[in-house]
Amino acid sequence: MGQITLENVTKSFGETQVIPPLDLDIQDGEFTVFVGPSGCGKSTLLRLIAGLEDITSGTIRIDGTDATDIPPAKRGLAMVFQSYALYPHMSVRKNIAFPMRMAGIDAAEQERRIEQAAAALNLTDYLDRRPGQLSGGQRQRVAIGRAIVREPAAFLFDEPLSNLDAALRVGMRLEISELHKRLATTMIYVTHDQVEAMTMADKIVVLRAGHIEQVGSPLELYRNPRNTFVAGFIGSPK
Ligand code: ADP
Ligand code: MG
Repeated sequence: MGQITLENVTKSFGETQVIPPLDLDIQDGEFTVFVGPSGCGKSTLLRLIAGLEDITSGTIRIDGTDATDIPPAKRGLAMVFQSYALYPHMSVRKNIAFPMRMAGIDAAEQERRIEQAAAALNLTDYLDRRPGQLSGGQRQRVAIGRAIVREPAAFLFDEPLSNLDAALRVGMRLEISELHKRLATTMIYVTHDQVEAMTMADKIVVLRAGHIEQVGSPLELYRNPRNTFVAGFIGSPK
């Protein structure tokens, strides 16, 4: 399960409201992309869903349950950041195992999930290396592996590929799309890259100054952008 609903959600930092009242429905298994310019609230929205920031008002529901009082670790969501946030002194195996150790999963089950994730991400031969001995793409795969082993209801990606060079980005894009097909798990993916948005999304959410400018499939937005802002982001001729 991985249905996420935002009802009238707002977020203020001090006096500044960065998310005005916002409604959004994300279906189980959907690949949703948040796009919009820098500072429009993409990361904040993801952090609110993850529970890393408290909402100021409104309700976030995960599979129908009000998530307000559910701490981040119990929401069943796994976040993947652009800065890989790996532990440099730990092997790949230990990095991937870390969240399972925290969750008290037994050793045999940990091993099973590590083998499975490593096979899915082409990391089997790298399990005993340290992050410093890996390429940027491999490090990003380890970060994704660490999310997969938690078997989350949804993955939340915050510009995961922005530190990679253009050629690697294309490959990782395909890998993440493949992963989504295979796992059929809800994924929310933040990017300011319109090509990523257009090629990966089932549904694109175009954000501007904290509000939703338009929601639709890549084709819908391309054919019928509501205004020049959306058209500009989607690369539509309108
Ligand atoms: P994006 O990820 O789209 O670039 P953010 O969600 O990081 O945008 O930021 C949205 C707005 O909220 C920006 O104006 C930013 O300065 C502000 N903001 C984000 N986090 C904080 C914070 N912890 N304290 C104060 N303002 C913040
Ligand atoms: Mg951001």
